[in-house]
Amino acid sequence: MNILVTGGAGYIGSHTCVELLGEGFEVVVLDNLCNSSEESLERVEKITGKKLKFYKGDILDTEFLDRVFTENKIDGVIHFAGLKAVGESVKLPLMYYQNNVEGTVKLCLAMQKHGVKNIVFSSSATVYGKNEPPLSEKLPTGDCSNPYGRTKYFIEEILKDIYVSDNEWNIVLLRYFNPIGAHESGLIGEDPNGIPNNLMPYISQVAIGKLPKLNIFGNDYDTPDGTCIRDYIHVVDLAKGHIKAIEKVFEGCGIKTYNLGTGKGYSVMDIVNAFEESTGLKLNYEFAPRRAGDLPSVYSDPSLAEKELDWTAKYSIADMCRDTWNWQSKNPKGYKK
Ligand code: NAD
Ligand code: UDP
Repeated sequence: MNILVTGGAGYIGSHTCVELLGEGFEVVVLDNLCNSSEESLERVEKITGKKLKFYKGDILDTEFLDRVFTENKIDGVIHFAGLKAVGESVKLPLMYYQNNVEGTVKLCLAMQKHGVKNIVFSSSATVYGKNEPPLSEKLPTGDCSNPYGRTKYFIEEILKDIYVSDNEWNIVLLRYFNPIGAHESGLIGEDPNGIPNNLMPYISQVAIGKLPKLNIFGNDYDTPDGTCIRDYIHVVDLAKGHIKAIEKVFEGCGIKTYNLGTGKGYSVMDIVNAFEESTGLKLNYEFAPRRAGDLPSVYSDPSLAEKELDWTAKYSIADMCRDTWNWQSKNPKGYKK
């Protein structure tokens, strides 16, 4: 089976390429490298000892998509390509709608033209909005607090409409919780551009001395220690979930939606403490005001993926902290030499 991985040079994409190659899939990666580097793909090949095919280009470019689908017999697509910075999406909503929503429409048009009707899509827990956790797939979606979240919600709805119009499509919508960690080799990991927005890359850049201190956004929430709770999941567990999802697609699943999370919530303080324990380092941090739009507690009900995909997350918070630090300490500048 030949899988087209859009956004395959990115954080989750590169880890998924490792798992795909390890399971014997052929991999074609399409990425414009706007938030990644080709070096990640060279490292994927180093980890697996296998080759993949790389096309540098944009999902907004119809002619380019046509060429990729003409030159390769694609059996299924895993669609990661997208912009993901929440704050940036508030400032530049049109760029987010164009890249994520229009990009997905163009990708699906190319798939339709070339008779490829199998897709796994990277959605997000953010589509659940303010619902009370544990968050199950049955809950209503769409009450998102920012344009990024709304692009995920709109794309889910577009994919549902595609299925209604033609039920030969097989579509899995994966709602990720908070991926952190890195491959155990330390060769691939998260390499954000500029100052990170997310907690774990921020912590690891404080630990490496690149940033002076962590600001903990709010310690007055209605949670046991006052800091926000999230469902952190090891990126390798998440990547393995994609193997199960693409297999489900190839069984002929129609349209399905699954959470990929651990079902366990950890507070910001839990993560700081776990990172210090796993690495033996002391983190410089202070409490700061709440960040606009943050919800006090977000965690999954992961039981549907367990039941229907035979998938559960295996790695602990300690594993996630150890592997993050292994990657960061071996690559203090990320993929930059
Ligand atoms: P990432 O930025 O590391 O990877 C995305 C990749 O897509 C990058 O390599 C980027 O260069 C590429 N890309 C973006 N726009 C493109 C375009 N128009 N054409 C071609 N390539 C393009 O991000 P990630 O963390 O690996 O996330 C992958 C997907 O998962 C994204 O869609 C993201 O929204 C979604 N997601 C991520 C998280 C998270 O916390 N990391 C959580 C939920 C959902
Ligand atoms: N957070 C923090 N300091 C930071 C980055 C994040 O205290 O520098 C907190 C944030 O307020 C949230 C949690 O860590 O409660 C996870 O944030 P992240 O952006 O990683 O994920 P999201 O909020 O999008 O689920």
